[in-house]
Amino acid sequence: MNRLPFNINLWFVLGAAILIAWAFSLTSTNQAPSNKIFYTTFLSEIDQGRVKTLTIDGRQINGTLKDDTSFVTFAPSTVDTSTIRDWGQKNISVEVVGPKRENPLMGFLVPMLLVGLLFAIFWYFSRNRGPSGDNAFSFTKSRAKVLTEAPKTNFRDVAGCDEAKDELKEIVEFLKSPARFHEMGARIPKGVLLVGPPGSGKTHIARAVAGEAKVPFIAASGSDFVEMFVGVGAARVRDLFDTAKRHAPCIIFIDEIDAVGRRRGGGVGGGNDEREQTLNQLLVELDGFEKDTSIIIMAATNRPDVLDPALLRPGRFDRQVAIDAPDVRGREQILKIHAKGKPLGEDVDLALLAKRTPGFVGADLENLLNESALLAARDNRKKISMKDMEEAADRVIMGPAKKSMVITQRDREITAYHEAGHALAAHYLEHADSVHKVTIVPRGRAMGFMMPSRQDTLHWSKKRLTDQIGVALAGRTAEELVFEDVTTGAENDFKQATDLARRMITEWGMHPDFGFVAYQIREDTYLGGYDTRQYSEETAKRIDEAVQKLLQDQHDKVVTLLTEKREILERVTQALLEFETLNSEQFLKVVQGETLEQDPPAEPPKDKDEKEPPRIVPKIKPNLGGA
Ligand code: ADP
Ligand code: ZN
Repeated sequence: MNRLPFNINLWFVLGAAILIAWAFSLTSTNQAPSNKIFYTTFLSEIDQGRVKTLTIDGRQINGTLKDDTSFVTFAPSTVDTSTIRDWGQKNISVEVVGPKRENPLMGFLVPMLLVGLLFAIFWYFSRNRGPSGDNAFSFTKSRAKVLTEAPKTNFRDVAGCDEAKDELKEIVEFLKSPARFHEMGARIPKGVLLVGPPGSGKTHIARAVAGEAKVPFIAASGSDFVEMFVGVGAARVRDLFDTAKRHAPCIIFIDEIDAVGRRRGGGVGGGNDEREQTLNQLLVELDGFEKDTSIIIMAATNRPDVLDPALLRPGRFDRQVAIDAPDVRGREQILKIHAKGKPLGEDVDLALLAKRTPGFVGADLENLLNESALLAARDNRKKISMKDMEEAADRVIMGPAKKSMVITQRDREITAYHEAGHALAAHYLEHADSVHKVTIVPRGRAMGFMMPSRQDTLHWSKKRLTDQIGVALAGRTAEELVFEDVTTGAENDFKQATDLARRMITEWGMHPDFGFVAYQIREDTYLGGYDTRQYSEETAKRIDEAVQKLLQDQHDKVVTLLTEKREILERVTQALLEFETLNSEQFLKVVQGETLEQDPPAEPPKDKDEKEPPRIVPKIKPNLGGA
């Protein structure tokens, strides 16, 4: 929120206070005539008979001379009666003023004015509301930014993110003509969760949705609702939705929703009351929409896994749209968009720059272009050179503003081998799910990931599970084969593999030595799931050994496989290093030894041709843990 009005008021009130204080000081000082004379001068004036009148007030003596000039002087002590009588005899009219008393009016006025001043302060603060009703006493007002005009951003300003844009098109349609959808009685999605790392353009794309639909964009941040006082956050949530209702159809955008939306405690040992109240209020507001309101809530987070499950239930944030860090092509497009209006030298090659900035997100790239413009301007050059750009890239990498992590070439290589390992195992192991996409663009805390094309079967066979363990282990296995040393990058893979192996034995009765006993009981309770162990120490030991053996066997199998396919592993790795992301088609081509044609030079995305058939985007929950 723009705090300016608040500041102006503060200064205004301060100014008023100073003015009033000054006024007081004026009334309380006696208006003394300006010409002050020495007492001795005064005495000689008297002796010379030039004094006409005198007013004696303690030691202060005001008077006028015969020529009507007034003066003031101070006697060394209170003028005594005999002196006054003397002066009286010298034909001077003498007036004696009694001890000065506090002006009775003042005694009444001062407190009155002070109280009045207080009221004035209150009045100014509470009167002066910004467009969103922000004022100094509005703890309970949301600090949302309200853009009553639809933002100028549209999808053309968003590079890459094609899948996300496709998913969000429906929302744009709805916001454009909500009545059409309401007439059909269609249930409109209310909440869309944008999932992606900081700076990858979540706010940007949400604003573009509002811009496309030409509706107001009301933006707040989850941290705005986090307050010390119980109830304040909740009141702000209420206010945010009230504001939105006044502007409907519109979009509410809540950045960093995890600040409020974190999983609530199980009610054990107390919790954070304030946050729970805020979250509850958010849930109430989400549910409380009338059927025919046309408000879409978009929220951004990098950690959907920490969100309270209640937030993700149907009718709330039931849609997740992944906004990933861009790959090479995406980076080139983003650079093109932000380079518009900047004078680039002939030697600037944005495609090359995109190649050299792995791991950069949109915000970083925007920052890079800005830095390079600053560098060129500093040297008084008319055009931005490639050298500026490269220096700017270094600055961004070093700088505090960098949103994404720094990725070295070595990191990329390790990641590429690791992911290629996963992908080859997924491809060659008979019962494993095949490769849908493999990438070394970081996502969440994962440096890259391999996304299997999930078949929607509810039953997992033992063979499939076993091969899945192999796939999980294959990342590390590839690292072992290629590098002398291994890295920490496989942590999550091991968790996944171990979990599968353990559950195969203890829950799914898939190990011949253990029979059909459910050793582990998974209880999903209000308190969150926990496992109850129902076996002896001895069995525990046997289970541990069996799990280990199962993992070891799969590891050995994958070692054999990858050693055999070492050449293909290299090919896939090189392709990953070059293209960063391979879809299933491209992956197959690389495996079969075909060369991938160089990407067509990236164009800033144009409006999609209406005639183009709708693309079917497989709905796969983003796997943020990384594999
Ligand atoms: P987030 O909300 O994900 O942290 P922002 O939306 O604030 O990231 O992105 C920061 C800036 O980066 C935006 O203002 C935008 O200019 C730029 N940016 C990010 N992604 C893209 C993109 N795909 N296309 C164009 N600009 C982008
Ligand atoms: Zn892995």
